[in-house]
Amino acid sequence: MRDAAPNTIHLKDYTPFGYLVDEVRLTFDLAPDATRVTSRIAFRPNPETTDRRFFLHGEELRLLRAAIDGAEIAPEITDEGLTCSVPDAPFVWEAEVEIAPAANTALEGLYLSNGMYCTQCEAEGFRKITYYPDRPDVMSTFTVRINGTHPVLLSNGNPVDSGEGFAEWHDPWPKPAYLFALVAGDLVAHSDTFTTVSGREVDLNLWVRPGDEGKCAFGMEALKKSMRWDEEVYGREYDLDVFNIVAVDDFNMGAMENKGLNIFNSAAVLASPETSTDDNFERIEAIIAHEYFHNWTGNRITCRDWFQLCLKEGLTVFRDAQFTSDLRSAPVKRIRDVIDLRARQFPEDQGPLSHPVRPESFQEINNFYTATVYEKGAEVIGMLKRLVGDAAYAEALDLYFARHDGQACTIEDWLKVFEDVTGRDLSQFKRWYSQAGTPRLTVEEAWQDGTFTLTLSQETPATPGQPDKLPQVIPVAVGLLNPNGDEVRATEVLELTQARQSFSFDGLAARPVASVLRDFSAPVVLDHDLSPEQRAFLLAHDTDPFNRWEAGRALAGQCLLDMITEDAAPDTAYLDGLTAVLRDDGLDPAYRALMLGLPSQSELAATLHQRGLIPDPQAIWEATETLRQTTAQHMQDLLPRLRAESQIEAPFRPDADQAGKRALGSAALALLSRLDSGTQAAADYACADNMTLQLSALSCLLKAGKGEVELAAFYDQWRGDRLVIDKWFGLQVALAAPEQAAETARRLSAHAEFNWRNPNRFRAVFGALAMHHAGFHHASGAAYQLLADWLIRLDPVNPQTTARMCSAYQTWRRYDDDRQLLIGAQLDRILAQPNLSRDTTEMLTRIRGS
Ligand SMILES: [Zn+2]
Repeated sequence: MRDAAPNTIHLKDYTPFGYLVDEVRLTFDLAPDATRVTSRIAFRPNPETTDRRFFLHGEELRLLRAAIDGAEIAPEITDEGLTCSVPDAPFVWEAEVEIAPAANTALEGLYLSNGMYCTQCEAEGFRKITYYPDRPDVMSTFTVRINGTHPVLLSNGNPVDSGEGFAEWHDPWPKPAYLFALVAGDLVAHSDTFTTVSGREVDLNLWVRPGDEGKCAFGMEALKKSMRWDEEVYGREYDLDVFNIVAVDDFNMGAMENKGLNIFNSAAVLASPETSTDDNFERIEAIIAHEYFHNWTGNRITCRDWFQLCLKEGLTVFRDAQFTSDLRSAPVKRIRDVIDLRARQFPEDQGPLSHPVRPESFQEINNFYTATVYEKGAEVIGMLKRLVGDAAYAEALDLYFARHDGQACTIEDWLKVFEDVTGRDLSQFKRWYSQAGTPRLTVEEAWQDGTFTLTLSQETPATPGQPDKLPQVIPVAVGLLNPNGDEVRATEVLELTQARQSFSFDGLAARPVASVLRDFSAPVVLDHDLSPEQRAFLLAHDTDPFNRWEAGRALAGQCLLDMITEDAAPDTAYLDGLTAVLRDDGLDPAYRALMLGLPSQSELAATLHQRGLIPDPQAIWEATETLRQTTAQHMQDLLPRLRAESQIEAPFRPDADQAGKRALGSAALALLSRLDSGTQAAADYACADNMTLQLSALSCLLKAGKGEVELAAFYDQWRGDRLVIDKWFGLQVALAAPEQAAETARRLSAHAEFNWRNPNRFRAVFGALAMHHAGFHHASGAAYQLLADWLIRLDPVNPQTTARMCSAYQTWRRYDDDRQLLIGAQLDRILAQPNLSRDTTEMLTRIRGS
């Protein structure tokens, strides 16, 4: 068990390790209950420091033997590692430990999933494999021998030797231990090759369980596209003879970028038209790209310490977003990313879990794999690129790769390459890495004698541990439109550096309409007081696709808030504007489908809270339902046309073009089902030949209170396919009426197929419950209690997934006293559990606050 009072680790306390590692040799003798790991590690004193304390991390290990330069020693062992005295000269450390992969349910270190051995070492899992300086700034080459009976034995790097019952691998690129990986299993490969720009032939393998071979082709294509794209756009070439990807069913995260041996949650790599939706395909393509891109941004250049996690994650998320934008539609990708940012990062940044993109302290690093580090981290890179321009960005990246290849770096190193290339002082910009919270950007307009003035002001609210904020550098992309809808000033980037600053545009014939924060040029909350008429004008005319969408979104949001707070009827300015956009078949179907979306109910709750009101989840749910119903009626005549436009004769392709049409067709079907009680959806379900259409028709039926027969048939059809059955579980919770959501989740959690130890299955039910705003926050408190019951059960088995799920409660202070009492009681109940993990304790303590 973890310490009762865990230590907090601070960025400011960083010191380098006293020794460098020249070489690591590992031998694994695999056995489920007693795997033996033999290590032989060449250390030498680190000339960068005089600190010669020798501490090796190690947890849950049984040390059988340790020796220095061949002489056996008896180190001093604690729960966290060992110490011993060592020579002040190069020496060889040897150790033999025993570990029990079969008993490892936390899915960190070496564990078993369906009889297959696999590893997850980021962030601090390697210390559960053997004694080692398990910190990212200690880098070494690794040679690994695996002795085991499984037909496939894999590790990082290139294959060196193999035979009956063994395989040997060598990774020539120095890496930190968190990138170590090992896989042993009865697996089959979907293989291909890739020839790099310099002519190196690389063997590519996607390893899966027998039976999943048919779900590999898309992932393999995505990998090859990623490899080509990184050569063409970033000049980065792959550097080993082989690139392996393995699909694993039991996995806490999406995927892991281990050098040359990426390990994927099977949900993040396996795909087929029959079993995967268009959204699944797009996500899989992006995750494969993301992990591949880490080969340079993360592996070749890694992080000095875990506080610098955003150095690899923010940059790599930014790179995978660029990749998706290039392959698919840039505006659609941007809109989807902003929807995601507002759904996941904003609540984090506006609540008790708020932390800077580069945190300054943590107790459990696993709790900082957050939307702030990843998604806001990527937004920060996007702002930097916008400020310095594309050419300087490319030059700075070239310098970054040239200067830091093979190093473990910091945010300071990263910003320095931009300063060196551009001559800019980025010290104020750096506040994006150190200040938490979402800045609020307020826009005021003035018009006089042909001069239009925008006054921008910024304010970042206090966040835990950071009461006072300084102004940040905010790039605000602005364009101006003439009253006739023409663009009178093309997009330019205003640099807001002060708390309040004015920018003037002169020589204008008429007062323009300002389109502010185009392309969502900064991750801020925009407060621009436009009239419904002005928003409707931007919805009709804005030349920036993001802001055109945003105008519709803001209109919908205002309409819903008026319905909630003033019992107003749905605004026809919104409905008419929306209908006009949907009618325009010159616009991308995917874009029009996004136009039909509404602000999420959680987002509406946040807005009400920011305005000093107490959100009522049930009232928000009802307003949303009413607006959808009214929209359906308003568009009655248009819906059949939208459906006709979305029909596809060609064979299924998961590309942006077809996916966009299906998205528009599904959105139209959802509205139509509100008018015909699901008649069309039932017909569509009967002839659906891909998962996107099947799931969309089933959703419409369930939403209409029908579909019982189809739901049962769906289960029977897919009962052998775990990823589809995850959808079956999730869908029922997501579409339950608010008063039934908790009961639905409870009923499903008693289902024979509810394997709660599998993170995907657990999240399918309880992730869906947490996302069901009105259901989770139903006044009965049933969902609060049910989730707490399950978190208490899961914590001893899998602390990492438990801790992550705790964020369901993070917005609790927004709601009324009764709900706060109910949630507070559940938080206290979980916190009172004996032996609660360090992960969960830290999360709940932060959420609970004082
Ligand atoms: Zn990553």
